[in-house]
Amino acid sequence: MKAEVLTFLGETKLELGAAGIPDGNWRTGRDANGILWLALDRAGTGTNTVSEDVIRELDAHIAAAETDLPTALVIRSAKPSGFAAGADITGFDSLSDTGASGLLKQGHDVLDRIEALTCPTICVVHGAALGAGFEIALACDYRIAVDGASFGFPEVLLGLHPGLGGTFRLPATIDPTEAMTMMLTGKTAHTERARSLGIVDVVTQERHVAAAVAAAADGTIEKHEQGLKARALGFDQTRGFAARQMRRQIEKKAPEHHYPAPHALIDLWEEHGGDRSAMQRNEIISFAALLKTETSRNLRRVFFLRQGLKDAGRGTDGIAHVHVIGAGAMGAEIAAMAAIKGKTVSLADLDPKALGQAIKHAAGICRDNHLDDIESRDALDRLMPDPNGYGVARADLIIEAAPEEMAIKEAIYESLRGRMKDGAILASNTSSLSVDELATKAPNAADFAGLHFFNPVSKIDLVEVVKGAETSGATLDRLAAFCGAIGKLPAKITDYPGFVVNRALTPYLMEAMALMEEGVSKEVIDTAALRFGMPMGPVTLADQVGLDIGLHVAESLRENIDKPMAPIFETLRKKVAAGDLGKKSGKGFYDWSNGPPNPDEDLENAPDDLTDRLILPMLDALVEVLRCGVAQTEDDVDAAMILATGWAPFRGGPMHYARLRGTENIVARLKELEATHGPRFTPDKGWLDLV
Ligand code: NAD
Repeated sequence: MKAEVLTFLGETKLELGAAGIPDGNWRTGRDANGILWLALDRAGTGTNTVSEDVIRELDAHIAAAETDLPTALVIRSAKPSGFAAGADITGFDSLSDTGASGLLKQGHDVLDRIEALTCPTICVVHGAALGAGFEIALACDYRIAVDGASFGFPEVLLGLHPGLGGTFRLPATIDPTEAMTMMLTGKTAHTERARSLGIVDVVTQERHVAAAVAAAADGTIEKHEQGLKARALGFDQTRGFAARQMRRQIEKKAPEHHYPAPHALIDLWEEHGGDRSAMQRNEIISFAALLKTETSRNLRRVFFLRQGLKDAGRGTDGIAHVHVIGAGAMGAEIAAMAAIKGKTVSLADLDPKALGQAIKHAAGICRDNHLDDIESRDALDRLMPDPNGYGVARADLIIEAAPEEMAIKEAIYESLRGRMKDGAILASNTSSLSVDELATKAPNAADFAGLHFFNPVSKIDLVEVVKGAETSGATLDRLAAFCGAIGKLPAKITDYPGFVVNRALTPYLMEAMALMEEGVSKEVIDTAALRFGMPMGPVTLADQVGLDIGLHVAESLRENIDKPMAPIFETLRKKVAAGDLGKKSGKGFYDWSNGPPNPDEDLENAPDDLTDRLILPMLDALVEVLRCGVAQTEDDVDAAMILATGWAPFRGGPMHYARLRGTENIVARLKELEATHGPRFTPDKGWLDLV
C-alpha cells in the first residue's frame, strides 16, 4: 500500500495518502482535505473501458468509503485519452443470460451505493465519458467537465441501450425527451451542449479543476434543476403520447425487426418511466435480452471489424508534410482532414478559385469536427494553398487527386520527376484507373500506391490502400499508418478493377438500371433495398455518387472484367450528356431540388426476385475479389463494405450475411436468377471454396 502521486493531463498534481486497497485498475488515495480520489487507470491499455474487474474493484473502494466516510469522493480518469469509452464489450459474447443479469445487478448495486453516499460525490470528466463511463458520472452528485469533454450513450449502435442505470438516471438529470433522443440516436453531447442540456454543472480548464472540486465539496456549486417538462413526463399519459411520437420517428430510420434496441428503450420508458425501481429492474432484463439478439451480435461484430482496421492504421508513418494535387471534391477534403490531424499540408490546383473554395470548405469541416477557435486557426495555418507546387520538394507524401484521366495524371507524374524528396511516397486517389498502369508513369513504382478515399472524405472513414505489383511493403505500411494518423481506417488490398468496394457496388447499381429498363419504378427498387437494410436505395445512391462518375466506373469495369455485366443503358448516357448528373446538378433519376428522395412504396406488386437481384450480385463480386486475392479475408471485405457504403450493419456484413443464409442457398438462388435473367448471375467459381 503505497502513497499515490497523480498527475492529470500533465497539469493537476495530486499527492495522496494510501487508500488501504491494493492497486488494480483504480489509483486511489485521500488528499490533505480528506477527499477520496478514485482515478480510473485500466491496466494494459491507453483507453479506459469499464470491465467486470473495474466494477468489482470500485465496489471495494466504495465499501471502504462507506466505513470511513471521506469529506468528498472524486471519480476521474488518470489517462490522458479521456474518461472512459464505455463497457468492455470483449466478454459480451460469452455472457449467458444469468451471467449478464448478475453482472449488471452488481454494477447497479455499486452505482446505487455511490449515489447513496452522504458525502458530496463529484465526477471530473476530460475527453469522452461514454456508455458505462457516462453512467458512473451520472451516479455522482456533480459533474465537472474539463473543456473538450463529451458525453454519450452509443449502446444503440451496438444493438443495445444503456444497462447500468443510464435509462433512468439521464432522464432524471436532464429534459427526459432530450435524454431519450441521446440514447436513441447514440449522439454525443460535446462540452457546451452538455452544459446547456444540464449534464454538467461546471465547465472549466484542467488548471481550475482543484478549485471546482473544492467548491463542489463545499456545496457552493449550484445544481441544475429539472424543469416543468420533466415533471409532466412523470405522468403516464404524457409519456405515452411522447413515446408514440418517438416510435413513429424511429420506425422510419430503424425498423423494429432490424433494430430492436431503440424500440425496447421506448417501451421501457413508456411503461416504467414514472417508477425508478421498476425502470431499474426492467432495464436489466431488457439489456440482457438485447444482448442475445442477432442484431446486437452483428453490430458488435462490426465494432470489432472497425477496431481491426483501427489497429491496422497504428504505427509511424514518417509523414510530416503532405502535398495534395487537385483541390476538387476529393483533394480539398483530404487536405483538410490531414491538416486538422496535425499534418503540414500544401494544396495545389491549376484553378485558383478551387483553392479559395477548398480553404473555405476546410473551415466548415473544422466546425463539423468540433474544433475550437484556436484549434481551427492552427489547422487552417497548417493548410497552405500552393498554386506553384513548391510543396512537392518538401513533401513526405504526395496525394494526387486530379481528374480521372490517364493523360492528366501522367503529365502530373512526369512533372514530379526529379523534384520529390528521397523516400517520399506518391499516391493516387484514382477510383477506376489501374494502379499498376499508373505506377509505370510514376517516378518510382516502389514508392507508389493507390490511396482510395471515398466521397465525402470527412464523413466516410474507410480508405482502400491499394498495393500495385511493385509497391513496397514499407510504402503500404506507411500509407496505412498515415490513414490512422488522420483518423481514417485503412483497408489494405491489391490492384483490381474497381478495387473492392466499387467492384461490388457497380453490379448493384447496374442491376437497378436494368430493373428500371424493365419498367420497375425507381421508388420500388429503392424501397426494396431500404427494406433489406441498405442506408439508401441504389437509384438514390447512383444520383448521389454522380451519374457521370457511375458511368465512368461502369465503363471501366466492363472493359476490365471478363464477366458478363448488365448493359449500360442509353437512358444513363443520355442523362449524363444532358448534364443531369444527380444530386450535384439538382437532377438525375430523381429531382433533388426539394431535398433527398424518400421512397417508401408498397412492394406487393414488385418482382419476387427484386431484392436478390440487387443484393446477390454484390456478394458474388466479393467472392470474386476474395478468390483473386484482392482482399485477404471475408472479415476484410465485410468491414470495407459496411464502413464505405453503410451496407446493412445489423446483418454483420455481406459475407457474414452469405454465411448465415447459407452459401449453398445463395449459389442455388444465383443459378435460378441466371436461368431467368442471363449469365451475369452465373455464380463465381470462388463460391466452391466457401461451400
Ligand atoms: P474534381 O473534378 O472535383 O477535382 C479535380 C481538381 O483537379 C479540379 O479542381 C481541377 O482544377 C484540378 N486539376 C486538374 N488538372 C490539374 C493539374 N494538372 N494539376 C493540379 N490540379 C489539377 O475531381 P474529384 O471528384 O475530386 O476527383 C479527383 C480524383 O479522385 C479522381 O481520380 C477521381 O476518380 C477520384 N475519386 C473521386 C470520387 C468522387 O466521388 N468524386 C471518389 C473517389 C475517388
